[in-house]
Amino acid sequence: MELVVATRNQDKLKEIKMFLKGLPIKVISLNSFKDVPEVIEDGKTLQANARKKAIQVSRHLKRLAVADDSGLEIDALGGRPGAYSARFAGKDATYSSNNEKVLRLLKAVPGSKRKACFRCVIAAADKGKVLGIAEGRCRGRIGFEPKGRSGFGYDPIFVPNGHKKTFAEMGIKKKNKISHRSKALVKAKKLIIDFSETCFGSRGLHER
Ligand code: IMP
Repeated sequence: MELVVATRNQDKLKEIKMFLKGLPIKVISLNSFKDVPEVIEDGKTLQANARKKAIQVSRHLKRLAVADDSGLEIDALGGRPGAYSARFAGKDATYSSNNEKVLRLLKAVPGSKRKACFRCVIAAADKGKVLGIAEGRCRGRIGFEPKGRSGFGYDPIFVPNGHKKTFAEMGIKKKNKISHRSKALVKAKKLIIDFSETCFGSRGLHER
């Protein structure tokens, strides 16, 4: 069975592939399709954007698709950047300009007030119809400088609760055990397995 992940973000794709490794699923991204129209992510919430991407892509390709919309909510910034995480530093934002902006805004904020939460919403849809929504959160705090080279996005400045290292220092395997994305994927995996059983009966997907 093939599962389309409605993203062109190779970093997200890598984490999702690694997580679903045990299932007999071939995970493919939008890069495998030339003619899928760009989905405009104009929703105000992660859920609105995830739903929109899953609906449009699964309708266009006439098959099962999942979409991940994720972001970082920082208490001291009133929950920003949230759904605007990808372009927090502006239209041409990069991972490092986004991190620099967060660190600049939090310059005078002490350790005890640097709480933050990563959220991930995954929507699964088949031929334009939403099958379900899965959500995961990971709470932590924002560090004082970028640390580590693994992962992507805000990983170098995010330290999950109960840990001393940033996501970028701990590496993808360890991150995948505790991250917002892996928590959402646990629930999304169930949606995908249920869907395959509806389509293929007892020949549905089984963990290897
Ligand atoms: P979107 O979900 O494509 O709208 O983009 C979400 C943005 O949030 C990404 O470009 C990253 O900057 C950030 N982000 C999402 N998930 C993670 C993560 O697991 N680690 C670090 N940054 C993330």
